[in-house]
Amino acid sequence: MAGPGIENLLITVVGAGFAGVEAAWAVASRGLPVRLYEMRPVQNTPAHTTEYFAELVCSNSLKSKSPTSPAGQLKAEMALLGSIILKTAEQHSVPAGEALGVDRNAFGAAITAVIEMHPLIEVVREPFTASMAIKLLSEADQTLILATGPLTSPDLAEWLAKLTGRTHLYFYDAVSPTVDASTIDHTVAFGQSRYDKGEGADYLNCPFEKDHYYNFVRELVAAERVPIRAFEAGGKRDADAPASELEEPFLEKIKYFAGCTPIEAIAEKGERSLAFGNFKPVGLTDPRTGRRPYAALQLRPENTERTLYSLVACQNRLRFGEQKRVFRMVPGLENAEFVRYGVIHRNTYLEAPEVLTPFLEMREHPGLFIAGQLTGVEGYVESAAMGILAGIHAVNRVRDEVLINPPRETAYGGLLAHLQDSTPREFAPMNVNWGLFPTPEIVTRDKSLIRAAKLQSAQSAFQTFLERNS
Ligand SMILES: Cc1cc2nc3c(=O)[nH]c(=O)nc-3n(C[C@H](O)[C@H](O)[C@H](O)COP(=O)(O)OP(=O)(O)OC[C@H]3O[C@@H](n4cnc5c(N)ncnc54)[C@H](O)[C@@H]3O)c2cc1C
Repeated sequence: MAGPGIENLLITVVGAGFAGVEAAWAVASRGLPVRLYEMRPVQNTPAHTTEYFAELVCSNSLKSKSPTSPAGQLKAEMALLGSIILKTAEQHSVPAGEALGVDRNAFGAAITAVIEMHPLIEVVREPFTASMAIKLLSEADQTLILATGPLTSPDLAEWLAKLTGRTHLYFYDAVSPTVDASTIDHTVAFGQSRYDKGEGADYLNCPFEKDHYYNFVRELVAAERVPIRAFEAGGKRDADAPASELEEPFLEKIKYFAGCTPIEAIAEKGERSLAFGNFKPVGLTDPRTGRRPYAALQLRPENTERTLYSLVACQNRLRFGEQKRVFRMVPGLENAEFVRYGVIHRNTYLEAPEVLTPFLEMREHPGLFIAGQLTGVEGYVESAAMGILAGIHAVNRVRDEVLINPPRETAYGGLLAHLQDSTPREFAPMNVNWGLFPTPEIVTRDKSLIRAAKLQSAQSAFQTFLERNS
């Protein structure tokens, strides 16, 4: 494969997934040579099955094509920045309603070919190790973009953990669902911190009456769960182990890495265990009754603008449809819109607000950029978006130019705000969603008008950004 000489090489990208491909493309199309490492097929991840770059490991959907959806707006911004993933996906799309569905093998083959053929991209099919990272970063004028994704090789993940002080690297997601604040029924959910401690009411509380609580617990325990994959429980990838055999090691790992147990597993231990644990009502008074509720699910703000709330201690592994059904039984959440569902699965990502600059560079390690899911976004499209941006910032760093991010109003701005928001919370990866866009200054409760205003300011802010920075 033709490529630039090592002596000229200034930028190295590790991982040819969604983010790495975009980062390498962004660098090369801005005229700089780039070396792209991909460990497959020499070393595989537990979920990838091909040698293709940007492999879709599960669904073949790159989210909504609708220009009036959050994903549509993000895609429009990515396209304007020169996304190669989107261009190639369009060429290999399959009918999938409103979604951009792709033929995964045709897409994989095409994106691999297009990257391999670029004269400024040198592809190296070998695992990039911790010692290679240390060596590269010790050399002058070297820039490294890590885009190794949720299944980063163990050696590199271990190095990243050391680099970030271990507490800032997550190996598992144990995430509670998050809802759009404007869809919570505020006549039921009341703002109060336990015993009125703390400044103002940080939490919203969804109060349960006794019967309601027991109905909820029954449905929670009976709801359909996502099966555990062998590799997540520590078994071999192709092991055909029954779910019951995988359950215990999986839960042990979750407890070890994420410090928690899924809510349905706690509820299974006894009908009242949530009322005494996750949903304990102590220190709360329901203003509608003047009494302490039987149990209360607390909602905690996910961002400083309080446009998103997460359901405290509701990490779970129910199927998404089941989560919507069961958690909508909670008083005050009957019409809640879920912008992120709870998940418990293997993942690797950094605690971005602690360790990353707004430009996706490690605060303590200039010249080391992070891209993709490692940054704390979730999903093929969002990861690709963070690949483009990391590539652009790396080029500007190398050229000694000022680094500038898309404005807060844009879809990019929303994702970046999530990565920088230091509100005390369990930091967890986020998909693009309406709650990430700033609330517009219009006086209406009409959801469609609010969304239209969000979209309009995103579009015009991105246009201005492009005009000023092209
Ligand atoms: C099991 C599973 C199912 C998923 N399902 C979906 C879904 O349906 N929809 C969705 O939107 N998202 C899904 N995701 C999330 C999805 O994987 C990510 O959003 C997306 O692929 C992340 O992009 P990325 O570029 O950060 O990482 P990836 O696309 O995973 O790319 C990382 C690349 O780095 C390589 N790599 C790792 N370590 C090294 C190393 N040391 N040296 C060289 N190369 C290395 C890997 O082989 C891989 O090719 C799923 C994730 C998992 C784990």
